[in-house]
Amino acid sequence: MHKVINPFDQSVVGQIEFDTADSIQSKLARAKVGFQSQSFGTLDERCEQLRRFAQALQANAEEDAQLLSRQTGKPVKQALSEIKATDARLKYFIETLPELIQTRQTVMDESVQLQEQVSYEPLGIIANISAWNYPYFVGLNVIAPALLAGNVVAYKGSEWCPLTCQRIAEGLWQAGFSQDQMVLITGDGEQGQSLLAADIDGVFFTGSVQTGKAIAQQVASKLIPMQLELGGKDPVYVTDDVDAAIAAAQVADGAFYNTGQSCCAVERIYVHAAIAPQFIEAFVREVARFKVGDPSDETTYIGPLTRPSHIEFLRLQVEDALKKGALLALGGTGQSDGFFAPTVLTKVDHTMLCMKDESFGPLVGIQVVKDDAEAQALMNDTEYGLTAGVFCHDKARAQRILAKLDAGTVYINACDRVSPFSPWSGRRNSGIGATLSHEGIRCFVRPKAWHIRG
Ligand code: NAD
Repeated sequence: MHKVINPFDQSVVGQIEFDTADSIQSKLARAKVGFQSQSFGTLDERCEQLRRFAQALQANAEEDAQLLSRQTGKPVKQALSEIKATDARLKYFIETLPELIQTRQTVMDESVQLQEQVSYEPLGIIANISAWNYPYFVGLNVIAPALLAGNVVAYKGSEWCPLTCQRIAEGLWQAGFSQDQMVLITGDGEQGQSLLAADIDGVFFTGSVQTGKAIAQQVASKLIPMQLELGGKDPVYVTDDVDAAIAAAQVADGAFYNTGQSCCAVERIYVHAAIAPQFIEAFVREVARFKVGDPSDETTYIGPLTRPSHIEFLRLQVEDALKKGALLALGGTGQSDGFFAPTVLTKVDHTMLCMKDESFGPLVGIQVVKDDAEAQALMNDTEYGLTAGVFCHDKARAQRILAKLDAGTVYINACDRVSPFSPWSGRRNSGIGATLSHEGIRCFVRPKAWHIRG
């Protein structure tokens, strides 16, 4: 039995039995039979089942938010916001998917009696392996459209929030999806590897770059569709024509929300020299106000880190920066009780780990730049390409800067934002493929081209 420990007070939240390689094989063998016998109902029925799931999810939101908060240390208010925001995504899939995967006629040439059509078929068994930081978002971004499109989903959520993953699966079963259609796999990386070794037809992964690369290698010879949503080192540039205090408040939230454990958290800030003193002062003031503490308290903004070993990782990034000349404007101390104080480093540069490697915690560096060209070059100077933002009154100027950035999502006067209507995609080490939007639906079906004469 695997014990789930609360990172705030080390109490036992619950326990869960992990799958074995054999149990994974037999679950997938049953699912394959189910898929081949086409016993998963009509698209209308699946839409109705997902609607029922969505309603129950909202009805149980408070209780589920507490459960997530106890496993991960996510402040309960933020856990509740995640569950509430999931509703818009589920509605988007239910409303958009049926039309997108409908058979459509592409050519009709009566003179030669020729028609061409495209129909869409499910991939088969989708392995969904995912992270703990937003389990409702990253889990259901895959599960919902994949199930609607008629696939089996073999869901191996994170070992850091397994009780939430179980709740998601149970909710889908209660709404009418069968256990051979929505397959729950419990476990950690070992079970993830067993799942990948099984007879699967697609892999949709959310997690670290390191694991993403290992998965890509493991499944390479299977020649199946694979999408990877990986880490980020997302930059924001604050130009000289904005209100420093307003920009500071928004960027601080984008950097420290979810205790900085967001793939699209702002981790690097570039500020124009003309506005730097006011911006840095306002930014530090904002961050100092964030309430750190008990995640079950509704007023808490920063909780403990989910993975205790990450404290040492962040401490080493701070130590490296200070050794190379950075200044500590706030925080910088890991604490043995599971927290890392919200940390702001100034006088940073790109020789420092904190400006190049994903931090994934409450830590941000601020670098002063002389102009837009310098900011642009620095923003592109990491191995990641998830999001990038510019805070700038002059939208044409912001557009010019962002047009040259190698990132899947760009923001003007915004940051740390995801929408069901737009593709969520990373470039370079931030990943391959896209979820959400039309792109995040069509990836769960294969096109079949029909040429019909006569
Ligand atoms: P992780 O890579 O440690 O684990 C992710 C999942 O992979 C877990 O379910 C884990 O059990 C499984 N796993 C681990 N090793 C495996 C292996 N060898 N084979 C198969 N499965 C394996 O990542 P994490 O700590 O859960 O998540 C944090 C990372 O996720 C951060 O880098 C963050 O940026 C990234 N993330 C990205 C997005 C995005 O949309 N781009 C969203 C959320 C999180």
